[in-house]
Amino acid sequence: MSESYNQSGGTSVIVIGAGIIGVSTALALQDRGHAVTLLDRRGVAEETSRGNAGAFAFTDVEPLASPGILLKAPKWLLDPLGPLSLRPAYAHKMLPWARHFYAASRPRRHKASISAQARLMTLSRAALVRLIARVEGEPLMRREGQLQVYEGEAEYRASLPAWELRRQHGIAFDLLESPEAIAEIQPGLASRFTHAGFTPDWMNTVDPKLWTEHLAACFRAAGGVIETNDVQAMVQQGDAVVLETTAGLLRADQVVVAAGAWSHRLARTLGDRIPLETERGYNTTFPTCTFDLRTHVTFSNHGFVVSKIGDGLRVGGSVELGGLELPPNYRRSEVLVQKAVQFLPGFDGTGGTQWMGFRPSMPDSLPAIGRSPRADRVTYAFGHGHLGLTQSAGTAEIVADIVARRPLALNIAPYAPLRFGGQP
Ligand SMILES: Cc1cc2nc3c(=O)[nH]c(=O)nc-3n(C[C@H](O)[C@H](O)[C@H](O)COP(=O)(O)OP(=O)(O)OC[C@H]3O[C@@H](n4cnc5c(N)ncnc54)[C@H](O)[C@@H]3O)c2cc1C
Repeated sequence: MSESYNQSGGTSVIVIGAGIIGVSTALALQDRGHAVTLLDRRGVAEETSRGNAGAFAFTDVEPLASPGILLKAPKWLLDPLGPLSLRPAYAHKMLPWARHFYAASRPRRHKASISAQARLMTLSRAALVRLIARVEGEPLMRREGQLQVYEGEAEYRASLPAWELRRQHGIAFDLLESPEAIAEIQPGLASRFTHAGFTPDWMNTVDPKLWTEHLAACFRAAGGVIETNDVQAMVQQGDAVVLETTAGLLRADQVVVAAGAWSHRLARTLGDRIPLETERGYNTTFPTCTFDLRTHVTFSNHGFVVSKIGDGLRVGGSVELGGLELPPNYRRSEVLVQKAVQFLPGFDGTGGTQWMGFRPSMPDSLPAIGRSPRADRVTYAFGHGHLGLTQSAGTAEIVADIVARRPLALNIAPYAPLRFGGQP
């Protein structure tokens, strides 16, 4: 196997997708001496990485696919504007993914997914510390923790097994059992919230778009190339990968696919069938804060969060299963804002900008990280679902080691892209 080495001993690598996963990966590859080109059909952070809630949610080790969700889902699905919804026009297309999701929710698989998620979180957290230092990124971070609030004793008690799980994985938290204790961390919440869990080590970026753009600027400043280009297909030919793009054919020694919720379409061109779906999420961003938000607040039983973004506030969440083509239903954003107005007395709730993004989701909530079995010069890095920002720095380090064929800091078998057997 021969590769064309550049002066610093690295090979030429094309990364497809300039969301947070692609940009972080491009930077990590560049730091290891590769000549890297980053391609995106729209630009840097123009899709899902632009509008997320901005949280590094290292404490969220429990996958969506869980025994608990199987109990809650039927009730949620009956409410078309509830935390989880399925667009009827898309229902039949969801069946294969839903079958894998169901299997991944069984207790044994669920337990294995939690361990794999926790290991990736530990690595990602350490990698983020390295990345912040590398790019002088501290001014783009907030360290204000996260408050997960509950309405009444019964809801709180039902959450305790999840907190016990976090404890088993070494996650620090405080349980708050009175409105007064909650008010010490976040004053002004509606009195219906009587209990909470606080995770002090949770971090946020001041703005996920700015953070991704900052990483892209560091990549460019060190000689990295970013081009607007739409990749249609890939093929491995001898010692190179050839990309068919709207700007013609491109060649590289290695390729990384970090195309978010569209990645499975590229994988298909190699013959790899990967059950990637999208969990569409909605939010509304307010340019100024009419509520004194002191931490990231999660209303988990309502499926949404409020976080500070820049000088403003973002209300976002919900999961809509509806594929990549159906138009957004912004009633979902409106419902979340109506709830935020009730839950945060004094919050104005007018003048916001609505947005929908495509979470790239595998059935077991673990990402797809690893080489294509059909083309060993193509590495996949996608499918991070609700946690793409959180796991971006760790994913980037793993992928850089895969490309360089170096020993890995983590057993990546649980994230094998074809772990569902190649059936969509
Ligand atoms: C409402 C909401 C809130 C969220 N909150 C959080 C949070 O607080 N913390 C967290 O960790 N995660 C959160 N997420 C999830 C997170 O945003 C995603 O996991 C993450 O952005 C995925 O990043 P990505 O780089 O894989 O994909 P993207 O950001 O979607 O980037 C993929 C890129 O690939 C490009 N592309 C696709 N196909 C091609 C092609 N053929 N050729 C060229 N380019 C192509 C696209 O243009 C796009 O720019 C949230 C998501 C939503 C929707």
